[in-house]
Amino acid sequence: MAARVLVACKRVIDYAVKIRVKPDKSGVVTDGVKHSMNPFDEIAVEEAIRLKEKKLCDEIIAVSCGPEKCQETLRTALAMGADRAIHVNIKQDEYEKLQPLAVAKLLAKVAEKEKVNMLFVGKQAIDDDSNQTGQMTAALLNWAQGMFASEVKLSGDDVEVVREVDGGLETVSLKMPVVLSADLRLNEPRYATLPNIMKAKKKPMAKLAPDDLGVDIKPHFEVLSVEEPASREAGSKVESVDELVTKLKEKGVL
Ligand code: AMP
Repeated sequence: MAARVLVACKRVIDYAVKIRVKPDKSGVVTDGVKHSMNPFDEIAVEEAIRLKEKKLCDEIIAVSCGPEKCQETLRTALAMGADRAIHVNIKQDEYEKLQPLAVAKLLAKVAEKEKVNMLFVGKQAIDDDSNQTGQMTAALLNWAQGMFASEVKLSGDDVEVVREVDGGLETVSLKMPVVLSADLRLNEPRYATLPNIMKAKKKPMAKLAPDDLGVDIKPHFEVLSVEEPASREAGSKVESVDELVTKLKEKGVL
C-alpha cells in the first residue's frame, strides 16, 4: 500500500527575524515582519517528496491553518513538490490565540476527510515551541506515532522510524496509519526552482473553515503576559586562574 501523505505546514515568523514583544505584552509583533514555512515542516515536505520519488507515496497534500497569507506557505510546499493544498482559514486575531489542541483537531479531521494514511508534521513550530500538535493528533486519530524522526523507512504498511531521543537514537516499528514528526537531521530540504514555482501557481488549493470540519477552535488557556528574556550582563575575559579566583572573590562567589 503506497502512502497518501498529509503534510502540515505552519506559517511562522522567519527564523532570522529578531522577535519583538508588543508593548501591551499580549504577544509578539507580526505586522510587517517576514514570515516563512516552519523549518521543520520544510523537512517534513521534503521527506514526503522523497517517498514519492521512490514510488512509495501516491499523493502529497499540504495543509496550513491560519490567515489568508498561509496560502503563500502552501505555494512554497507546492513548488517543492506537493500535489495539492488545503487552506483552513482562520482570522488573524483568532490565529494569534490558536492552540495546538485546536490545530490537532483540524488536522485530524482533514486527515480523515482526505483518507490519508500518513500525517507528517514538524517536531515543533519555532514560534510557540509547543511540540504538541503531532502527538495530540495521533491521540485523536488513535494512530501510531513516530516523533522526532531522523530516518524513515517505508515498506508496505510497515514504517520504521529512527527517533532522536535524549539518550541517543531509538528505532521503532509502526504500522500505518501513522503520524510522524520531522527532526532536524532527517534531510536537507530542497529549494523550489523557478519553473516549479510557476507550476505551483496552477496546482489546486482548496479552502475550508474550521466550521466546515466541525471543529471549535476556541482557546483553552489564556496567555497572561509575554515578556522579552532578561538581558544578560556582558561577560569579561580573564588571563589566568589567579585572576579568575581574585575576581570571583571580589564578587563574593568564593
Ligand atoms: P507545535 O506543536 O505548535 O510545536 O507544532 C508542531 C507541528 O504541528 C508544526 O511543525 C506543524 O507541522 C504543525 N502545525 C502546528 N500549527 C499549525 C498550523 N497552524 N497549521 C499547520 N500546521 C501546524
